[in-house]
Amino acid sequence: MKDQTQDQRLSAAQIAQVQIAAEAWTPQHALNWAFETFGNDVAISSAFGAEGMVLIDMASRVRKDFRLFTVDTEFLFPETYNLTDRIEEKYGIAIERVYSALSPDEQARVHGEALWSRNPDQCCNLRKVEPLRRKLGGLSAWITSIRRDQTSVRSTAKRIEWDAKFGLVKVNPIVDWTSKQVWRYIHDHDVPYNELHNQDYPSIGCTHCTRAVGPGEDPRAGRWPGFAKTECGLHII
Ligand code: SF4
Repeated sequence: MKDQTQDQRLSAAQIAQVQIAAEAWTPQHALNWAFETFGNDVAISSAFGAEGMVLIDMASRVRKDFRLFTVDTEFLFPETYNLTDRIEEKYGIAIERVYSALSPDEQARVHGEALWSRNPDQCCNLRKVEPLRRKLGGLSAWITSIRRDQTSVRSTAKRIEWDAKFGLVKVNPIVDWTSKQVWRYIHDHDVPYNELHNQDYPSIGCTHCTRAVGPGEDPRAGRWPGFAKTECGLHII
């Protein structure tokens, strides 16, 4: 249910104008702009990777009662669930959790066992993309922690853009940051992070589709090993 800020919803043309200026903004400026422009109709989306933790910490310094949601595939690592508890305690917020319409058991009954091993795109669609679409349908804008140098798909992302796939504004405050900047922020501000990052998991998703990476491997090589897939579909235009 959208509140009165729905009237403030920006058109694609207006976004095209602001996105040029936004390229010079700091992440904090982008967050403040999003909160001021969309009020309660904007939320941070996070899977609680290192970048997401930076964004959550920054947001907490801009606005205490910011909205934060996650798409819980029900296949996450215990370390990730542990981190969500720590986030809620440290930042005093309640994470909004979004689930697939199918429980893991129902998915196995309808689509067969271990769908992720046969058709990860369909599995991601059921457990991530469809629930996200449902959630975004109630928002005017979403905030993500994607960075341009993470994948080729993300290399053209803007700090503020019109998300044509889901039909709302997308704000990417740290789009031009490097991994080094992310980790510097985490250490400088004592930001909590997923313990798996200390065990050679630079990118963390579902248990079935994430492995540790070896020395010299691409940071996202541990996602969907054995498949050409590099994205779950949330950030593909
Ligand atoms: S990451 Fe793997 S287990 Fe998780 S939703 Fe995608 S395919 Fe399914």
